[in-house]
Amino acid sequence: MTLQRHRIHRRIYPLRILGMALGGLSIAAVLHQNQAPLALWATMVATCLAWPHLAYLHARLSPDPHRAEARNLLIDSAIAGAWVPLMQFCLLPSVVLVMVTTFDKLSSGIRRLWLQSLPGMAGAALLLTLWLQPQPRLESSLTVVLCALPLLIVHTFAVSVASYRLIRTVSRQNQQLEELRRTDLQTGLYSRDHWLQQAQAALDAFQASARPVCLLIIDIDHFKSINDQYGHTVGDEVIRAVGLIIRQSVRAHDWAGRYGGDEFTVLCPQATRDEAQDIAQRIRDRIEGLRLREQPQLKVSSSIGLAAAQPRYQSLREWMNAADAALYRAKHAGRNQVAAGGDTGPGRLAPA
Ligand code: GH3
Ligand code: MG
Repeated sequence: MTLQRHRIHRRIYPLRILGMALGGLSIAAVLHQNQAPLALWATMVATCLAWPHLAYLHARLSPDPHRAEARNLLIDSAIAGAWVPLMQFCLLPSVVLVMVTTFDKLSSGIRRLWLQSLPGMAGAALLLTLWLQPQPRLESSLTVVLCALPLLIVHTFAVSVASYRLIRTVSRQNQQLEELRRTDLQTGLYSRDHWLQQAQAALDAFQASARPVCLLIIDIDHFKSINDQYGHTVGDEVIRAVGLIIRQSVRAHDWAGRYGGDEFTVLCPQATRDEAQDIAQRIRDRIEGLRLREQPQLKVSSSIGLAAAQPRYQSLREWMNAADAALYRAKHAGRNQVAAGGDTGPGRLAPA
């Protein structure tokens, strides 16, 4: 059982004291208007002033306070239902009491609680109607109207504040979820999906404006044997370190992502092929110089495929295939180097 579930009765306790007291004010005005007998005044004190404390004790002493509180909420509704005939169906306070207790069930967030509350509320009203057969007196004096207002106003205000807070929390959490979706947790780079979205947008912008944009695919050389030789924990450390190098080597407006496994991608907007080569070369150099403190003998290198966007690329896939083909050439030419694809044709740009 979660702590929140366990403490629900503490949260509801002050709200019930306030709600019942305001309900009691409304009922007292009707009892005064109807010159009700003492027994009804005593019932009002018991239900509106004593009940909130009994409900709290009941939930606190229960092994499952959440269930006990759900029962208490149903009893709240039955009490409201009972007061309808006891107030001789005085229209305004009856409607306010019934609506407020029903909306409370809805805003409790407990599934279908409001529906479950209806039989108890209607049953209590019916039973007391049949038993006491009260004379209907629907009209309200000005005092009755005024005394019903605090419950109406305070309840509306409380529900509005609660839903405002809920909306703020949900939108904050949605923002956090969106950030998580965009980020590769291991490296802090963009996630594959988010990076792909940006790459598609960059290709679309290129088709519209023809401003140069380049794409790098970076793959760690022989990463499998690093895992095999040093273990996956060291492999993970290498991935994190390479991610950091890439992040620190690109320009502020480049988009660096983790494509998956030991493969990384960088989008370089407004970069000519030469400028992108410089970035790729910088990344390659720094990865080659990488040393882990715990494993100083471990050497890491990377192969990088580069492709500048071309007007003939109809899809992102074609552009990525060009960079991938360049990466393939870099691997086959001996690894630890940058190769460019696209119009530039195959070629080793930066020998190791
Ligand atoms: P090449 O030089 O041709 O790129 O060889 P390679 O060994 O790097 O190629 P391959 O793609 O076969 O190996 C990548 C390996 O990376 C396979 C996979 O088990 C491992 N790997 C993928 N993601 C992770 C990760 O997050 N952590 C670790 N430690 N290993 C990973
Ligand atoms: Mg690899």
